[in-house]
Amino acid sequence: MNAHVSQGSVSQGGWPVLVLNADFRPLSYYPLSLWSWQDAIKAVFLDRVNIVAHYDHAVHSPSFEMQLPSVVSLKSFVKPTTHPAFTRFNVFLRDRFTCQYCASHEDLTFDHIVPRSKGGQTTWDNVVAACSPCNLRKGNLTTAQANMHPRQAPFAPTVHQLHRNGRLFPPNYLHESWLDYLYWDTELDP
Ligand SMILES: [Zn+2]
Repeated sequence: MNAHVSQGSVSQGGWPVLVLNADFRPLSYYPLSLWSWQDAIKAVFLDRVNIVAHYDHAVHSPSFEMQLPSVVSLKSFVKPTTHPAFTRFNVFLRDRFTCQYCASHEDLTFDHIVPRSKGGQTTWDNVVAACSPCNLRKGNLTTAQANMHPRQAPFAPTVHQLHRNGRLFPPNYLHESWLDYLYWDTELDP
């Protein structure tokens, strides 16, 4: 079936669809695994997902009418990655978007604990989130010289740890049909 949908009534950005893995967990928590409704409908017609919940809203074309899905689950399980990529975003997420020296959430950047000028590497265990003033204050000093110590020793996080932190930063928009799938699963973990 041709998934031609009239675009007039619904904007491209509206009606996001929460995507669950085949085990009914979100593919990711932060950013939340969301598809556009267009991609979700495409996946429905390609038989790749099951519809779990609907919006109270339908799209129409001359040949069919369909309620927009609000939650879909993949038919085949996608193995979650175990080692998160070393990215700027993931360092912020590990450090909960908090300066590791003064706990500010403003003006965040990165600090090398062992400064690069002293051979410090750009790695999980040597880079922390830091606000610009702290970064400037520490400069090329070691933590001992500057007497500035990160609140937690930096480490390579697991996907689980990043998910846990991601949960603290829910997206601005949470449809009520998503809530059953988002926040309880760690409590159910052994
Ligand atoms: Zn700071």
